[in-house]
Amino acid sequence: MTPPGLHGGHRVNLARVVPLAEEPEGYLEGAPLCPMCLCLTDSAWISPDYRVVNRHDSVYTEGAALVVSERFVEVVGGEAGCRFVPLPADDGYHRLLVDHVLEVDRTIGELELAGEPCPTCGRQSTYGDPAAFVGIDSAPRGFFRTDVEYGGIPRGRRSAQRSYIVVDDELGRRLRDLRLCQIRPLQR
Ligand SMILES: [Zn+2]
Repeated sequence: MTPPGLHGGHRVNLARVVPLAEEPEGYLEGAPLCPMCLCLTDSAWISPDYRVVNRHDSVYTEGAALVVSERFVEVVGGEAGCRFVPLPADDGYHRLLVDHVLEVDRTIGELELAGEPCPTCGRQSTYGDPAAFVGIDSAPRGFFRTDVEYGGIPRGRRSAQRSYIVVDDELGRRLRDLRLCQIRPLQR
């Protein structure tokens, strides 16, 4: 049963956060990985000794963790739905953890599962772009992450999947204007 007011043509404008840089290696050293497929088993894991190499305001690490600068935290530290945890080995950076979860509407857009689920942890390569969400408030504010975690799981190599990180339009404009990250529209 769908609660009233959540559907019926209602549209909420949300935008996707894309960091300014990516670091392909290093973050998953010592991380909790599935012994079979080598995928990260705890998406909120924080590396005790990782240091950011590309000192941009927002960076995706190897483990799909979004780490952000002090400046980023100063600008949006009070926004709803997020927490910032200092990287133990890097004074200038925080891991952005998003607590508000949006359920991806599996009936709209693409959600492609590829390959067999891992027999040990059950993870499976997952691709697609969320096009709509269910159970969304009429005026969501702050940070959200998708309940679906996307990405390939190449067996035999460390990997991780990641949620889309999503913000309301207004916050997205602020982040973009301050050049703290890239902002991309979500498909509808
Ligand atoms: Zn596995």
